Amino acid sequence: MKDDLINKKFGKLKVIKEVPYHLTRYINYLCLCECGNEKEALKHNLLKGNTKSCGCLKSETHYNNFVNKTLEFLEKDALEDELSNPYDFTK
Ligand SMILES: [Zn+2]
Repeated sequence: MKDDLINKKFGKLKVIKEVPYHLTRYINYLCLCECGNEKEALKHNLLKGNTKSCGCLKSETHYNNFVNKTLEFLEKDALEDELSNPYDFTK
């Protein structure tokens, strides 16, 4: 199948279309990154997980991990607050 990767997501990249790539025999795809950048990626790199973003992922990973951890912590904290709240206004 020629267009088997179209519209599929690999990490932050969504495959838009196949692009002609004459330098090698590899299939190249034009992808749209979640950050808004476009990125051309080789099919086998997408499938292997070697290419997951336009390049912003590496610089953002640390920050995102921190944000996710913080959000998880805050949500957990809020949930515990709710569970330990002696005043239940729902009854
Ligand atoms: Zn990006």
